[in-house]
Amino acid sequence: MKKTKIIATLGPSTNSEEKLIKLYKAGVNIIRFNFSHAKYEDALKSIEIIRNLNKSGKTGLSMLLDTKWPEIRTGELENKICYKKGEVFHIYIDKKKVTHNHLFCDYENLIEDVKKGKNIVIDSGLFNVKVLEKKKDHLVVKALNAAEIGSRRHVNLPGVKLKLPGITRKDENDIIFWIENGFSFIAASFIRSAKNVEEIRKLLKKFNGEEIKIISKIENEEGVENLDEIIAASDGIMVARGDLGIEVPIKKLALYQKQMVEKSRTAGKFVITATHLLETMIENPFPTRAESSDVFNSVLQKPDCLMLSGETAVGKFPIESVKMMTSIIKEAEKNITYEHEHFAFKGYTPRDLEKKLLIKSGICTGEELQAKAVIILTKSWMLAKMASSYRPNIKVFAFSNKASSVKAMNAYFGITPFLHTSWDASNYSTTLDNAIRYLIQQGFLKESDKIVAINDIQKGNREIPIMEIINLWEFLSN
Ligand code: PEP
Repeated sequence: MKKTKIIATLGPSTNSEEKLIKLYKAGVNIIRFNFSHAKYEDALKSIEIIRNLNKSGKTGLSMLLDTKWPEIRTGELENKICYKKGEVFHIYIDKKKVTHNHLFCDYENLIEDVKKGKNIVIDSGLFNVKVLEKKKDHLVVKALNAAEIGSRRHVNLPGVKLKLPGITRKDENDIIFWIENGFSFIAASFIRSAKNVEEIRKLLKKFNGEEIKIISKIENEEGVENLDEIIAASDGIMVARGDLGIEVPIKKLALYQKQMVEKSRTAGKFVITATHLLETMIENPFPTRAESSDVFNSVLQKPDCLMLSGETAVGKFPIESVKMMTSIIKEAEKNITYEHEHFAFKGYTPRDLEKKLLIKSGICTGEELQAKAVIILTKSWMLAKMASSYRPNIKVFAFSNKASSVKAMNAYFGITPFLHTSWDASNYSTTLDNAIRYLIQQGFLKESDKIVAINDIQKGNREIPIMEIINLWEFLSN
């Protein structure tokens, strides 16, 4: 069983019951809906399929919404424009002024914000231009490479502090749609400050979606600069290497990835490494040597999840990509001994801190006794969150009576979550007995195993976290 989780982006290559089952069996834990592309009608159909598959027990998939955010684009073109290297042309912010080989850009502060001598990146890195002059209503730019440009191409403005809102009206509608449809995570694009995160948090609260976890995608220099405050305000971080690799000097990308993963772990927040991990497998059945090393080395940095984008959304080999990723993850994990580093997250109440310390002892006890697993009973996901942040070497099985907690725990490193269907809040022993018997029945545990169980039992209004060491041969003979 792998500890590092896999997120797969849904798209035409995987949008069917049969493919979703295969993705799950190959190692996917979370399905990502990318709302830069997804339509509500299509998303609703896929949500229905995933829900039914989860209900039937064929899959245990959580769902993640990736917001579109107020992205910057060029304008509509009747015909593609072929630019030569060195060609000089204009970029306007007023559509009406655009003629023959000039371009429009929908960022209204373009002229004010972009400095002379800086680069603008068009079409996700394919076309680089340099700003030669700033005029009242346009920029004069020079093509740094040849390119063919079609309608509505993506524009990146590296190094610019963008004057754009954290979320747009479309994002708001997407998020409300998401709350209504039982999603567990929002990956918020181009988060640049804690204020952006707070805007989303407020919206979730307004529409009773507080249980949804906010993952801030770090995609530009400003996000990197404000990383500490963004981590503090978020539930998790995504190292969104696609846009980040355009927005920052490419030579710094690996360093930023390392820093983001380390800082998130130290804070006790979960972290996803995303994009181009197996890019070649969009077209080929096999990754490059560099890609296989990238996946391996990314796992050594100990993030919670790795994410596939085009590989599973539009690729020719979506299932093979997941199988490949799973096999590299397992190989990398064999070579890591996870140190139980200190992390800052203390939860939200004094009880959460007590749970954190108990979990730490549970994991250390289990590992020192060479127990088979730690079993956690948790109504919320807090005990599992704490266990995951300690990066356990031992297996951790976490049971909850709340489906939303089980879905959230799916993202946490090293946690195998289960829905407990006969949870008895007034009788901890029976609830634990049922969980253990379920694990034995499913082949996860044997009569000769020793386990450590941790639970926050309820006594009247009081929650009392406790730990037990259980020899299953004794347990089963009683
Ligand atoms: C990225 O840029 O790496 C990313 C994950 O975002 P998107 O796929 O939305 O471009």
